Order: sequence, then structure tokens, then C-alpha cells
Amino acid sequence: MYLGIDDTDSRDGMCTTYVGLHAILKLQELGYDVIGYPRLVRLNPNVPWKTRGNGSVIVRFGAGTGKKLFIGEYRGTRLYAYTREKKRQIDSKELVEYLARNLEKFFMLDEKNTNPGVVISAKKFPEKLYWRGVRELLTVEEVERIIAESGASYKKYKLGRGIIGASCGIAWRDRRRTYELLAYTDSDTRSVDPATVKEIDRIPSIFDSYDPENDYIAIMPNSRTPVLFGIRGLNPQELIRAKSMLRTSPYHSYLIYETNQGTDDHLVRKNISEIEDYNSVIVKGTVSKNPRRIEGGHVIFEISDRTGTISCAAYEPTKGFRNTIARLRVGDVVEVYGGVRKEPRTINIEKIRIISAPPYREKISNPTCPNCGRKMESMGAGKGYRCRKCGYKVGEEAAEYRVVERELEGFYEVPTIARRHLAMPLKIMKNMRNVF
Ligand code: ATP
Repeated sequence: MYLGIDDTDSRDGMCTTYVGLHAILKLQELGYDVIGYPRLVRLNPNVPWKTRGNGSVIVRFGAGTGKKLFIGEYRGTRLYAYTREKKRQIDSKELVEYLARNLEKFFMLDEKNTNPGVVISAKKFPEKLYWRGVRELLTVEEVERIIAESGASYKKYKLGRGIIGASCGIAWRDRRRTYELLAYTDSDTRSVDPATVKEIDRIPSIFDSYDPENDYIAIMPNSRTPVLFGIRGLNPQELIRAKSMLRTSPYHSYLIYETNQGTDDHLVRKNISEIEDYNSVIVKGTVSKNPRRIEGGHVIFEISDRTGTISCAAYEPTKGFRNTIARLRVGDVVEVYGGVRKEPRTINIEKIRIISAPPYREKISNPTCPNCGRKMESMGAGKGYRCRKCGYKVGEEAAEYRVVERELEGFYEVPTIARRHLAMPLKIMKNMRNVF
């Protein structure tokens, strides 16, 4: 059986993963075992109505068999899951009502934009639903149809939009996966020793803990939530080791989630003419307009392929990444990875592969008149130069140029401080299957 929960929190309180922890406790109280790690499934990062990271929580449960799996601790009690599930009939309709009623106290129902959804299904939904959820926009109605066809049960609150994330999360097949260990506290006193965060960030399988370029601790959330810290990595054992290396204020519980974070699952290779609003894309093109800095410190340039042209942006929060983008020139060939904004229609760059950036010539001064030795003046772009004193004319080539070497080829990414949950950091790219 699969339980999916989404859209329970608001910007200033709670966290769906904490509801997940309490769902596990409730299920265990009812005599069910957890099967496999609980899952934190991130969906389309461009949906306009998301609170923060567009994440849903999935717990597989039933009668456990196979090996025992340590998944975390709740106020001093160790929590386990089993690796496999024995077949057993469960009345999902009754259970969904019961669980929803018991978890309601964690739902921020007064918040306008919080529209919780709880789904229970005996089987995974078709995988296609996950790919649509992570890459496109879905409606509550079409998801309700899919739930009904599968014989699953659900409970909606208010607009009930949460059933979209909950169902798409149930449809996830973890072809590419990472893990996150989340620690929870009740206290307002929160601290993490930066030196220990820098230390865990050096572990090869751990990613996005610390941003050295901006001296930013990325394991602590910025908004009010029960989460004290979250460590991301490629395997659960290393996360537990990293947790023991951290020095932090007290926390009462922690849980290890299996996730699609850092998998690039949201990205689809497209030609420019195929791009739609709210997509996340990989687009290969040639720089057709040089980068320029606009108000707010954003850097914008344009790429073209044989089907069209689109703007690409490195926004201010991407900090030093903008300096790399600013070095691009017309004619460079690049592959841009990022989410598509509707207005203005721009690719918000997450990372870029610079395929070719040949040396270019840059004019450093106008030519000197070969007749009278004076500096000559330009007659307009591409029209050559004229001597103001004697009227002598020369072509464009007579000016003094220098060759700008580039050495720019390769992958570049936004710093950790600006990373989206789904974006695959370069640090773990070589460890991931089927990377583009
Ligand atoms: P948090 O990450 O803190 O849990 P959040 O960013 O996940 O918050 P939600 O409160 O989950 O924000 O809001 C996202 C909403 O968008 C949910 O209702 C979810 O069901 C819905 N949603 C997710 N993916 C899609 C999609 N592809 N199309 C339409 N709606 C979606």
C-alpha cells in the first residue's frame, strides 16, 4: 500500500516531511510496517502555486518481510522499515479517512494557499503520471480520474490540489535517486556549527551542504519549520555518518527519506520552438545576442537554434555564476539547462555546458593614420576609418586588435545557495545513471 501526502504546509510553518514522520507513527500504531525508505518526491519546480520546493511525501506500508531497514529515530525510539511487503487486503477508503483525521492537526488549513490531499493506493500509479507531474502542469480533475481508475482512495481539503503531488509521488519509480536525512526540533534555539558543515561537505557522496563561494550553510532551512537541518547524499549510511560529525543544537527526531532530489528528472531535451511555459529544458543553441546586465543585477543573453530564439537568464541570486555567463559571446555553442518562466519568456539557467567558445578578437584602439600619424576616427560600424586631418581612409582591419583566449568549455552550475532541489549538482553527476 502507498500513502501520499501533499500541500499541508505554508511558508511560515510546518513541513510535509514532518507530517510524513507522524504518518509513519500512526501507521505503526495501527500495526502496519513501513516498507522501504519513506520518499520525498519533488515535482514540477515551475508550478505557480507551490509554497517552496513542491515536495510530496510517500510512505509504503503493509505487512513487512525481508530485511529490517533502519530509517530514523523518534524521540529516542529507533524506527525501522522492511525491505519487502507481504500481500494483504486493506480497506483504503476507511484508512484514508482515519489517517487524514489524525494528521489534520499538522495541516495549515487557515493558509489560503494550503490545499492538502491524502491518497492511499494498493499499487503504484502508472509511471507516466510521475513524469508529467515533474515536467508539466496537471489538474485536480485529471488526477482524480486516474485515482478512480486505479481503485485508490483519497481525501481532499479545500481545493484539494495536494492530491496531484501525492499521486505523482506514488507514481515515482526511483530510477535515479538520492537521500536526505532530516532532523526535527521543537525549539526556537537553532544552531549548527559551520566548521562541521564544511567538514561533511567534503565527503564525496554528500552534496549541497555548504556553499564555499558564498560562505552559506545550506543544510538549515530559511523559513519557519520543524526541520533543524537536512543533509543530502547518495547513500543512507553516509548520511548517518555525516550526521554524527555535525555539532548542532538539540533535535528530538530524524528520518531518512529517499528522494528524486538532484536527479535532473524535471529536464527534457527540446528544440526552442517546442518549449512551453513551466517546462524545464535542456536546449542546445548558438549564442545570438551577447550577455548584458540588466537592472537588479541579472545577466541575460539569447540563444538560437534552427527552430527559434529564446532568452536565457542568470538571475541575481546565482551570484558568481553570472560572471561566467557574462563571458559568453555571439557564436559560442552552448547547452542550457533550466526552467522556463512564462513572463518574461526566459530560461532560468540551472547549469550550462559550454560546447565551443573559440578565441575572439577585440578591438583595443583605432588605427593611426599612415599618412600623418594621427589617430583615425570610425566612419560607423563596419565602414572603416578616416583621418580627420588629411582625409585618408582605411578599412576595419587597420585597427589594433587583441585576441581574447576563452578556455571556457565545460559544465558550469549555479552555486549551492541558488540550487533547485531537482537540479543535479556537478559533484554527483558521474555517480548518476543515464545522465544526459
Ligand atoms: P513544501 O516543499 O514545503 O512541502 P511545496 O512547495 O511542496 O511545499 P505545496 O504546498 O506542496 O508546496 O504546493 C504545491 C502544490 O502544487 C501541491 O498542491 C501539489 O499537489 C501541486 N502540484 C505539484 N505538481 C504539480 C503539477 N505538475 N501540476 C499541477 N499541480 C502540481
